[in-house]
Amino acid sequence: MDFHRPETLAEALEIKAERPASVPLAGGTDLMVAINFRESRPEAILDLTAVPELCEWSPDDGRVRVGAGVTYTRLIEELGDRLPGLAIASRTVGSLQIRNRGTVGGNLATASPAGDGLPPLYTADAFVELASVRGTRRVPVAEFVTGPKRTAIEPDELIAAFDVASAAGPQQFAKVGTRNAMVIAVCSVALALWPEERRVAACVGSAGPMPLVATEAEEFIGGALDWDGGGAIPDEALVRFGELVAGCARPIDDVRGTARYRSHAVDVLARRTLQWTWSEYP
Ligand SMILES: Cc1cc2nc3c(=O)[nH]c(=O)nc-3n(C[C@H](O)[C@H](O)[C@H](O)COP(=O)(O)OP(=O)(O)OC[C@H]3O[C@@H](n4cnc5c(N)ncnc54)[C@H](O)[C@@H]3O)c2cc1C
Repeated sequence: MDFHRPETLAEALEIKAERPASVPLAGGTDLMVAINFRESRPEAILDLTAVPELCEWSPDDGRVRVGAGVTYTRLIEELGDRLPGLAIASRTVGSLQIRNRGTVGGNLATASPAGDGLPPLYTADAFVELASVRGTRRVPVAEFVTGPKRTAIEPDELIAAFDVASAAGPQQFAKVGTRNAMVIAVCSVALALWPEERRVAACVGSAGPMPLVATEAEEFIGGALDWDGGGAIPDEALVRFGELVAGCARPIDDVRGTARYRSHAVDVLARRTLQWTWSEYP
């Protein structure tokens, strides 16, 4: 197995263009597991950990551009104020060791339906920046993830960064697992309030082939909340919201839970995250 360790993004892109079958390595917390279990035997590894451009983040006109190689630990420590939903989700990923190595770039490229970094990106209008020697393109996250473990990355491309709208209101993320840490989510919900647009963004994770935006629930609750007065959410509206979010899930029965349980848990998480965010509003 060949091993490449470029020190600039330009160099990394040259190698990817010359060797499209080479497999990028960021934190290695997905890739090394696959190699150890012999699910993957790449002909070449493209180690991106020495590429400084991938490890930077910067604010950009109401948005934040985050390099694909920024770890969960750094996201939590450095971006918890600007991207609270993503930071809360990052805190639930693996263990401290996994968070010290793992990246949202890797989570995006793996595109697991259970990837915890993904739902908060959907609720913050994220774009994924794909780079190659041919140039750079920005793809909305919902178009980037094309199916379970499938993405729009071309063989000569790398994820350079993702960019997300800075929080304009409270955000939350909650997941259900069989224990408190180090588990794959049975289901999850990310939620973000965008008060200026009077919009609630909600996305369900791990209860379908890919993250699912709860469009009908979003439209319903955006019109039902007392945005001017901040009054309590009417019980009927809360119940309806939970039902609508659960209704957008496409859960399956598997070893982690039944479809019926997942739908119920999504309903509960949707109501809970809405109440949490609304209690912090305005
Ligand atoms: C013990 C354990 C617990 C875990 N717990 C969780 C959890 O709670 N929640 C969760 O969501 N995940 C969890 N994971 C999975 C994993 O940690 C995450 O998916 C993580 O985000 C992967 O990031 P990474 O940087 O380690 O990626 P890597 O393993 O380095 O790469 C993952 C994939 O992305 C590709 N890739 C990486 N960077 C780029 C790039 N810049 N451009 C293009 N392709 C790229 C790689 O080729 C590979 O296919 C866990 C893993 C372990 C081992």
